[in-house]
Amino acid sequence: MENIIQYFENIPSLHRSIILIGGISFFWIIEGSIPLFKFDYKKWNHAIPNFFFTLTTIVINFLLAFILINASDYVVENNFGLISLINNSSIAIKIIFCIFLLDFIGAYLAHYVEHKFKPFWMIHLVHHSDHNVDTTTANRHHPFESLIRFFFTLLAVLIVGAPIGYVMLYQSLSVVLSQFNHANIKLPKTIDNIISYIIVSPDMHKIHHHYRLPYTDANYGNIFSIWDRIFGTYINLDRKKIIYGVDVFPDEKKNSNINELLKQPFQPYQKPTVIKKYLK
Ligand SMILES: [Zn+2]
Repeated sequence: MENIIQYFENIPSLHRSIILIGGISFFWIIEGSIPLFKFDYKKWNHAIPNFFFTLTTIVINFLLAFILINASDYVVENNFGLISLINNSSIAIKIIFCIFLLDFIGAYLAHYVEHKFKPFWMIHLVHHSDHNVDTTTANRHHPFESLIRFFFTLLAVLIVGAPIGYVMLYQSLSVVLSQFNHANIKLPKTIDNIISYIIVSPDMHKIHHHYRLPYTDANYGNIFSIWDRIFGTYINLDRKKIIYGVDVFPDEKKNSNINELLKQPFQPYQKPTVIKKYLK
């Protein structure tokens, strides 16, 4: 355990990139063999805006990393944060405790606020306006959303008192699990159901990408599904009925264009539209 933490404390940027690209490549291949939907799309063309927003997310997090590192070093030196409550516990317990709370504050809470606070929702809907959700959608975040998420991660580190090794481990898990639950893959229904009691399963997260309320405002979880179950934001929908997109931003052409997406948070809502199902 200590070795794992030591590795993540000093994880080189190259290794973080390998995790990110390795994850996308892995799920990209799996999507070819067990797709949930047979999208009528060109996979690479669809991926271009999503890769662009993944890149902006990486750059923003890279530029701000020093704030996260300093904040973490400060809380650890001053024995600050909730982790001090379990000072005498084993390292495994501390890791689980930190990852749970970082996932709650840095991801679930951030995501919940993004849906409930209109200016944040306008930014977050760039993530939702993908009509063909696949593993590349995971990091399709407007640069302003990357800032919002960074702020919540920072808040989580301060509240939890998380050492930087734990934070890096959490972030790596978060990246890969997000790629997993966005991937256009069809697990056997029972398997998907069983894992959805512990982590956010692909079907569980896809329901969040359904183009209409109340499904969009549910299943906010990132790594663990427990938060949705505790706070009553869990919802179910037959996976065959899922249609991706947002009813008030239904223009698929604009939703695939980087310039349009960068401006999207500042555009007015359109009349709610019924989005047609893609070919299956
Ligand atoms: Zn969302």
